Formats: sequence, structure tokens, C-alpha cells
Amino acid sequence: VIRCRAAVAWAPGKPLSVEEVEVAPPKAGEVRIKIVATGICHTDEHVLKGSLPNVEFPVIPGHEGAGIVESIGEGVTSVKPGDKVIPLCLPQCGECSFCLNPESNFCQKSHISEPQNLLPDKTSRFTCKGKQIHHFLWISTFAEYTVVPEYSVAKIDAAAPLEKVCLFGCGFSTGYGAAINTAKVKPGSTCAVFGLGGVGLSVVIGCKVAGAARIIAVDINKDKFAKAKELGATDCINPRDFKKPIQEVLTEMTGQGVDYSFEVIGHADTMIAALASCNMNTGVCVMVGELDSGSEISIDPMLLLTGRTWKGTMLGGWKMRECLPKLVSSYLEKKFNSDLLITHTLPFAKVNEGFELLRAGK
Ligand code: NAD
Ligand code: ZN
Repeated sequence: VIRCRAAVAWAPGKPLSVEEVEVAPPKAGEVRIKIVATGICHTDEHVLKGSLPNVEFPVIPGHEGAGIVESIGEGVTSVKPGDKVIPLCLPQCGECSFCLNPESNFCQKSHISEPQNLLPDKTSRFTCKGKQIHHFLWISTFAEYTVVPEYSVAKIDAAAPLEKVCLFGCGFSTGYGAAINTAKVKPGSTCAVFGLGGVGLSVVIGCKVAGAARIIAVDINKDKFAKAKELGATDCINPRDFKKPIQEVLTEMTGQGVDYSFEVIGHADTMIAALASCNMNTGVCVMVGELDSGSEISIDPMLLLTGRTWKGTMLGGWKMRECLPKLVSSYLEKKFNSDLLITHTLPFAKVNEGFELLRAGK
């Protein structure tokens, strides 16, 4: 058993509390990882608010981390102590019908099919003050040590800087993959990205790498525009600067609407605006943002009847275990610069300050 620090969410609506926890050794088929760095994704904020489905409290959140294998359970063969790894919030069991389908990345062992609040044997490896603490998405990266199933871990290049590639665990891979895999952005095309957080800016990177000719970045926080431009946005617009709905502004700017639009905020109104902003016949709109659980969207069906395609994405469509190591290699070859997404680096004890920066749009 390892004693270390972890950030525990005891109940919805409360700040995280950094506690000493006990982390049990990995059982058969499990891996214990020393987490070196973790990012904060808006999905963790959904967890703290209690608006993500099927999460059980008390819980150790965090799902965008990178670390080093500390020990392995019986039968583990794909990683060994000392390996650099990224824990996966979307597993790849390799056996379910989705894993066997080359078109799908949505392993049936994922949280939406079967809650990942306890490890597959239905027990937790975390305790704090004598209480059992739940895992989050099986990976709980807001802990100095965490235990995950072997199929929820990807071994990466030993040269990878963990404090940079932790973003590949969620935000970067999601945004970049939404453009490359889900939308399949074509060279010369026009794109619109709604929301310029870590995920939206990663969509901008993906559109640029895919060869889009025009990338229109949309946010109500104009402080995000300089970074968006640095990453490849050609135009930046703030919906609050216009009297007209933003979909009309985008349609006027582009003639017939954009070829690809992405909603990376998580609001029903911006999801509809993003859909209406793409070309009425050939446009593709990708929903990346997450709505609060229980919310619904109602649209004029004519938006789709004319031919538009409306898609969602989970983690950018990557089969995580097999694709993440390749993405990390592309990063090391400087195919893109995801380091620009990092705005602040804080010590673990200041995790709540990190959330305050996220809420403040910083
Ligand atoms: P973030 O909070 O860092 O960024 C959101 C951005 O949206 C901010 O820049 C904010 O100013 C902007 N925004 C808010 N309201 C707006 C409006 N009305 N119009 C225009 N811009 C507006 O969030 P993030 O970490 O980048 O995550 C974005 C979304 O993606 C979240 O909903 C998150 O849960 C979701 N997400 C989905 C997946 C997936 O697999 N589909 C993975 C990770 C994150
Ligand atoms: Zn995330």
C-alpha cells in the first residue's frame, strides 16, 4: 500500500480537498502508476458540479494525466515498471464488437456503457480516513498514485515530456481528432470552431494540420483570440459584437456557410448555432461539448433535411491504446505544437486554484 496525496471530491458542489490517501497494490490485470502531471478538463468541472452521469461520490477526479508505471499486477504484459504511460479515460479492451470494428473507438468497457467508479472487479484501490473512495473513469489522475486496468493504459515514447503530453489523455486528442477523424477536414476547406478552451484550440490545430484554408474561431472571451491565431485561426469573432445571430454572421462571411463546424462549449444554443452555421447541404457539424446530464436539444428538422450531417465525437475518434503512442510520436516529430495549449503550471496542492482559472476563462 502506498500513502500519498490525492484531491478528493467528497460531495457535489464542494471544492476538492487534498488528502492523504492509501492506494492498494494492483491486482491481476492492473497497473499502478505514479502520476507526474495532469491537466484540468472542463469535464472534471462537470464532475465537481455533479452534472456528469453515473459518477459516485466521494471520488478522485482527473482524467488527463501522464505518469510512470510503478508496479504491475499478475498477468500484465504490455507495460513494466519504469515505462512512461498515459492512462486512458476511454479504454480499448480489444475484444468487444466496438474494439473489433475498425470504424469505432467506443470500447464497450467505457463509462457510458458501464460506470467506471470501481475497477472491473467492483472494488476500489483508494481509501481515505477509513472510507472507500471511488475511481473516476477508472483513472483518477488527481492522485499521486493511481491503479488502472491494463487496457486503460497506453505506453508512450520514453523521450516524451510527461508535463506536456498529459494533455493527450483527453483535451488535445479530443479536439485534434474531432477535426482529423470525426469531421475528416479536407484541404482548402473552411471551418468554424465555437469555444476556444483547451479542446477548442486543439480543434483549431487539427483543422490547420488537415490543411483548412480558413479557420474561424468563435468565443465570447476575446482574450482567447491571440492564442487561436497563433495556432492557425484566420478570423476570430465574438458573437456579442453582432446584433444578428452568429450563424447568420458566419453564413454571410462564407457565402454558403462553413464546410465544417465544431461546438466545443457544451450549450444547447451554441450547438444549434454551430449546426446552422455549416453549409445547408454538404456541411458537417461535430458536437464535442458536453451538455449537463438530462438536458435536451430541440431543432428545426429542416436544418438536417437539406443534407447537413450532425455528428458527435468521443475522445476525437481515436482508438486510444493503439493511437495515443503514435500521436505522441507525431508530437515529438513536431508535426504540431500542443505545448502552446498550456497556460499555467501549478503544484498539486493548488488544484482548486486551477479550477478557478478554468472558471475565469484563463
Ligand atoms: P473550457 O471551459 O476551457 O472552454 C470553453 C470555452 O467556451 C471558453 O473559452 C468560453 O469562453 C467559451 N464559451 C462559453 N460560452 C460561449 C458562448 N456562448 N459562445 C462562444 N464561446 C463560449 O472547456 P474545455 O476544457 O475546452 O472543454 C470544452 C467542452 O468539451 C466541455 O463541454 C467538455 O466537457 C467537452 N469535452 C468533450 C470531450 C469528448 O470526448 N466529446 C472530451 C473533453 C471535453
Ligand atoms: Zn476531458
